[in-house]
Amino acid sequence: MRPQIVDREVTMHILKTFHLHADKKLGQNFLISPSTLQAIVHAAGLGPGDTVLEVGPGIGTLTQGLAETGCQVVAIELDKRLIPVLAKTLDGYDNVRIVHGDVLKLDLLQTVGAPRFQLVANLPYYITTPIILRMLEERLPIDRLVTMVQLEVAERMVAKPGGKDYGALSVAVQYYSEPSIVMEVPPNSFYPAPAVTSAVIRCDIRKKPPVEITDERLFFRIVKAAFGQRRKMLSNALRATGASDIPAWLERAGIDGNRRGETLSLQEFAALTNTFGH
Ligand code: SAM
Repeated sequence: MRPQIVDREVTMHILKTFHLHADKKLGQNFLISPSTLQAIVHAAGLGPGDTVLEVGPGIGTLTQGLAETGCQVVAIELDKRLIPVLAKTLDGYDNVRIVHGDVLKLDLLQTVGAPRFQLVANLPYYITTPIILRMLEERLPIDRLVTMVQLEVAERMVAKPGGKDYGALSVAVQYYSEPSIVMEVPPNSFYPAPAVTSAVIRCDIRKKPPVEITDERLFFRIVKAAFGQRRKMLSNALRATGASDIPAWLERAGIDGNRRGETLSLQEFAALTNTFGH
């Protein structure tokens, strides 16, 4: 067994050796909790024959845990300073390939080069939502997404209609996947410690959406309008969709216009989509 990177002293030693400081702007909070790392690896359910895409390997902490399952790891890191660090810390793991680039810009299918893969990451928090939405909306051949995110974002991802956490992110995540919170992770599980509590979230990608809709773009346009003005009644908020006769539309969908968008289920958003402009 090789020395494990997931440790406060080892992490500080690696940073010192390479004369580096964690870059806050890039969301660099390195994992130092072995039990959290094990929980992530376990939730991902990886083994030899699997391929995993890791976003932001940092100094190689989670990458090492993933590599030790015997799966193929492709890890995309934006910070050029970390590329030589990773070459050193992951030296000897011939199942790891590091790619220098921006996860929001690269062609992921081509970069990974496998017909199916999983996504596992301790995400940089300044771009959590764009990364998750990209993975889901592009319909990449992913079965499961296991990521560390801010607890507040995890709660929005799993939120049910009616509460303050329920919003456009909840609808999108639950349309494409079945999300569940694996565990909460306190700030002292990272070096340096972030300002917020984190959570590991697992999203099992659905083979088929849970509702049938005629027009996906329209569905998300309606969702955006409904949550764009959370405090407004639906009869007002839906004006942003450009629909002409909103009361008649709401009646066709069987939805009370006095309700607020944040109370609508996926099924009700689907009903609005399928009766739009008819
Ligand atoms: N995986 C490591 C760990 O668990 O300790 C580091 C996780 S750290 C929270 C996030 C990493 O994402 C950093 O290494 C950061 O440089 C990298 N990163 C930030 N923006 C990125 C982007 N657009 N594309 C790829 N990596 C990015």
